[in-house]
Amino acid sequence: MKILVPVKRVVDYNVKVRVKADGTGVDIANVKMSMNPFDEIAVEEAVRLKEAGVATEVVAVSCGLGACQETLRAAMAIGADRGILVETDVELQPLAVAKLLKAVCDKEQPTLVIAGKQAIDDDANQTGQMLAALAAWPQATFASKLVIADGKAQVTREIDGGLETLSISLPAVVTTDLRLNEPRYATLPNIMKAKKKPLDTYKPADLGVDVTPRLTTLKVAEPPKRSAGELVADIAQLVDKLKNVAKVL
Ligand code: AMP
Repeated sequence: MKILVPVKRVVDYNVKVRVKADGTGVDIANVKMSMNPFDEIAVEEAVRLKEAGVATEVVAVSCGLGACQETLRAAMAIGADRGILVETDVELQPLAVAKLLKAVCDKEQPTLVIAGKQAIDDDANQTGQMLAALAAWPQATFASKLVIADGKAQVTREIDGGLETLSISLPAVVTTDLRLNEPRYATLPNIMKAKKKPLDTYKPADLGVDVTPRLTTLKVAEPPKRSAGELVADIAQLVDKLKNVAKVL
């Protein structure tokens, strides 16, 4: 069973992002970039399935700038067998990524795609769902447990107020939630080994996909600054402030 894992290069989760002065987007000049954390969980899950003898090959795919090669190498250091870069300078929106991934699926014929539930930069939470729709495959999103048995995936999903367990036939798309697993740290020998693993590069045109953006970002703004807190002397003063200043009571 081949597993395809889409991995996105995003601003590292520890970075405090700054909005560009003209409000057109987030400033990513000289900012540390890393693999989207949900994608690390996806790679880890795929590698665990390979280690358990369920999967035979794990292929990481990244779409974007040439620098996404680093993200693919990071996936290979966790244990992915090879990487595919779909290289473009065009700003990719989820539908374009889903179409590229569909074209890669047509070529690679994976049995399972494990994607992140969302990319922490744009918080779109769309790509996995769009890929499943384009491929006409079942999908199970926000997985906190994944079991493959009898040609099916049993997926436990985190939903409001509890857990839901689905059984879906394969091939399918599963997206990861935070509690699915805790990704391992890549060891130095594995980082070195990853440098030698195969990495193929395509352009969107090679895959017959038009990636022209369809959405226009009108404005990006910082959240309003929070004003400083205030210490109150007693409960009576607190209630008075909530009633007459904050006007929330
Ligand atoms: P999103 O729909 O943008 O929130 O992304 C959801 C998931 O789709 C991510 O966690 C990745 O697994 C995958 N994905 C999104 N964008 C890309 C990309 N440019 N390259 C590879 N995978 C991506």
